[in-house]
Amino acid sequence: MIREAHIVAVGDEVLWGETINTNAAWMARFLMSFGVRPTFQCVVPDEDAAIGAAVRQSLASADLVVMIGGLGPTADDRTLDAVSRALALPWHVDEALFRQLSQRHTRAAGWESSVRRQSRVIEGAEIWPNPRGQAPGQQIQWQDRHVILLPGPPRELEGIAEQWMGPWLAQQGQRAIRRDTYSVFDLGESAVAAHLFPLLEGQHPRAGIYAQPGRVDIRVETQETAWGQIQRRRVGAWLRHHLPVPVYELGGESREAFFIRWLQAHQMTVAAMESLTGGMIVSQWVSIPGASAAVLGGVVAYQDQIKIAHGVPEAVIREYGVVSPETALAMARAIRAEFHASIGVASTGYAGPDGGSDREPVGSFYVAAVASHGEVVRHRYSPLDRQAVRQMACHTAMSAVWELLGLPTRLTPDARED
Ligand code: ATP
Ligand code: MG
Repeated sequence: MIREAHIVAVGDEVLWGETINTNAAWMARFLMSFGVRPTFQCVVPDEDAAIGAAVRQSLASADLVVMIGGLGPTADDRTLDAVSRALALPWHVDEALFRQLSQRHTRAAGWESSVRRQSRVIEGAEIWPNPRGQAPGQQIQWQDRHVILLPGPPRELEGIAEQWMGPWLAQQGQRAIRRDTYSVFDLGESAVAAHLFPLLEGQHPRAGIYAQPGRVDIRVETQETAWGQIQRRRVGAWLRHHLPVPVYELGGESREAFFIRWLQAHQMTVAAMESLTGGMIVSQWVSIPGASAAVLGGVVAYQDQIKIAHGVPEAVIREYGVVSPETALAMARAIRAEFHASIGVASTGYAGPDGGSDREPVGSFYVAAVASHGEVVRHRYSPLDRQAVRQMACHTAMSAVWELLGLPTRLTPDARED
């Protein structure tokens, strides 16, 4: 069984930042889907010594070393020579491969030496023909470990990996690793981390936190086995118990998309009056296909007189301030009435860097959601930058809608299976 892999990209272009190393990212995900964990990635120049050192060092600690790039026909493609020398395994020209590649090659000057170079294989290697190009992939067993050589052009790399490397990995008795994501919208990253300390510290199962403004994802890794399923169930319950806010299992879906579909199914509509978010809330709704059936529209009411012109009582703004729960609620009520919507949503706050009041510092905001059966208003404060505060307000508005309508937090059929 192969547990751990190193990914080595070869090439000056990649090393110098002219080509982004997307191959390594793709390969890492590919390996993970076969239950092989990448534990190290590096980029080395087109130089024999560096390539050789990388393969030797990687073989000292990983079961599998995936070398990507430098298999082309030109003299600066060094991977085959370097690996051959590093492993003390000679190479030879594979005549069958040479004939095969010759047939497909145009007869331009120098074609023969070019094809000959790309027909070189390391002794004992399993050859994986390239469905989308010339240089084949090679799988070399070295003691109880493996080195795989793959060409650098992404289409070729992916073609060989999918056609040959995947089935080969599947034969090694791999167990797929599954990654589940739990999302939290109503708590900051450090607070989530503090609550989850026992989970993040432990190794079983492996978990990590990924934060963006207004959203924290907790990714949990388990194996696709019976024990993995028990672990998944336990972790889900543990998270819901230990976090003081709703824990979502979205399964790649967004709350916005679910909300729009839900409104359609219930023949309901929504409208928003946005100050702080300046249209971002409505924009996120209308990016969902089919939004026109549910989203009536919105008003960007940035200045007070616009809020008032759209039905917010001037006295509310004067008495409580423009950034207040009362004003947020008045805005949501006003837009709901003006647009005859089932649900009205509103945002008001200080995004900064300037502004703020004695009561409400910069980064403080309110969002509200109102319907015929009730009203929800939420306050949050974030010391983040202007755009992050606005993004966070959009998430918080969705949380308010979720609370108002009592929407589910597990949206995936997958999540229900456990
Ligand atoms: P070739 O026959 O094209 O020379 P090769 O196996 O030698 O194939 P490289 O020379 O390393 O591969 O790369 C060929 C092209 O593939 C590069 O010009 C680049 O566009 C792309 N490429 C190489 N490495 C990477 C990488 N790590 N991530 C993304 N693209 C890459
Ligand atoms: Mg090349």
